[in-house]
Amino acid sequence: MLLISCPNCGPRDETEFHYGGQAHVPYPENPNDLTDREWAEYLFYRENTKGTFAERWVHSTGCRQWFNMLRDTVSYDIHSIYAMGSPRPDIAGQSAQGQAGGPGLAPGAPTTTTSPEGAQK
Ligand SMILES: [Zn+2]
Repeated sequence: MLLISCPNCGPRDETEFHYGGQAHVPYPENPNDLTDREWAEYLFYRENTKGTFAERWVHSTGCRQWFNMLRDTVSYDIHSIYAMGSPRPDIAGQSAQGQAGGPGLAPGAPTTTTSPEGAQK
């Protein structure tokens, strides 16, 4: 069970809150200019981060206010709670890997390949 610190009410049980999905998904400036695929990506495509993830929450049985949270999706540790409209806080040890959307390696990470002994290309 999570203990979530509402910015307005203080620490409350997780059952008082509702999850609102990924944070920092901007509404398109000109939605009518988007292709169907771009519009679908805006509506439905979200990151599936393993690790620190910025998400929206609402204190639905309390003050009914929305806020953002940086939460680790593996350990459920809450790193930061901040106001809607505020930029994502930069926490220590956080790389740009999760924001780049790439499943691969961090920039500059050495690429090592293991091949069967004697295999050549
Ligand atoms: Zn509240």
